[in-house]
Amino acid sequence: MILTVTLNTALDLTYRVPRLTPHSSHRVTEVTERPGGKGLNVARVLAALGHESTVTGFAGGATGRALREQLATAPGVRDALLDVAGATRRTIAVVDAESGDTTQLNEPGPLITPDEWSGFLASYEQLLPSAAAVALCGSLPPGVPVGAYAHLVRAARAAGVPVLLDTSGEPLRRGIAARPDIVKPNADELAELTGSHEPLRATRDARRRGAHAVVASLGAKGLLAATPDGALRATPPAPVRGNPTGAGDSAVAALLAGLVENTPWRRRLASAVALSAATVLAPVAGEFDREAYEDLLDRVSVTEQASAA
Ligand code: ATP
Ligand code: MG
Ligand code: MG
Repeated sequence: MILTVTLNTALDLTYRVPRLTPHSSHRVTEVTERPGGKGLNVARVLAALGHESTVTGFAGGATGRALREQLATAPGVRDALLDVAGATRRTIAVVDAESGDTTQLNEPGPLITPDEWSGFLASYEQLLPSAAAVALCGSLPPGVPVGAYAHLVRAARAAGVPVLLDTSGEPLRRGIAARPDIVKPNADELAELTGSHEPLRATRDARRRGAHAVVASLGAKGLLAATPDGALRATPPAPVRGNPTGAGDSAVAALLAGLVENTPWRRRLASAVALSAATVLAPVAGEFDREAYEDLLDRVSVTEQASAA
């Protein structure tokens, strides 16, 4: 199985309103509630690709129970979340039906106690031997040490399990130094890490900080990868319109599938670009348009980038 870690899971609520206007009251025309958090999206997409996945992290309170009840119905995804005393956070997306724009409100998440964190580490160590790969996804809830991902990367490496890291800020900075196999920052995360807004320079700089490979996602422009075989750019045939939330998570799912199947980098990147564009076309994170995915696969362009440092 592929193990995905989501320390800050969420119950994602989406409210649809005809038109969002500040300082006024709105009639909600549609409400949806689903289990969320980056690693959960990754796991759902992996399962749809035929890879059994296990999700771990924390869940607690009434929101945590609702999340787990819904997760139980997701095919191919095993729940190994740990119970905590605090309540799982909610994220609220308000969609303006007229413009399609989304306003997002994210709660910080429950405070994790030192005992809960130690309990997680013990459980993670037990899960590692049965994992073909592990993905560490998203932000850290309050109470979890800032070096948490660095620790989890080292534990995976010690167990001989390849590890992918998708986070931001200081947890990313420390996590990279622990030498993960793949890091997937988006453009903002990469610029924050390296101080450079020049993607090729920044991607190579990030790789020199310790990652075996860095795959930067540049929204509609696709992916830019610094790998041991050099730098590659993978671009969708055209930008697509839709819901970009979770597109990065689908890119992560494709990169993990490629990692466990040991697919050559060019194919790995092509499938990540096709799958993430097909995710933009699906209305909710953690799902993709399968027909579009298969159609896009052969139409992604992958080119080598000049080999200068
Ligand atoms: P997430 O919300 O999942 O964290 P992210 O910010 O990490 O997303 P992005 O860089 O926004 O990731 O998108 C990931 C990938 O999705 C891109 O590298 C690209 O391949 C694809 N993608 C995103 N937006 C579009 C688009 N409009 N058209 C085509 N492909 C897209
Ligand atoms: Mg984004
Ligand atoms: Mg992302």
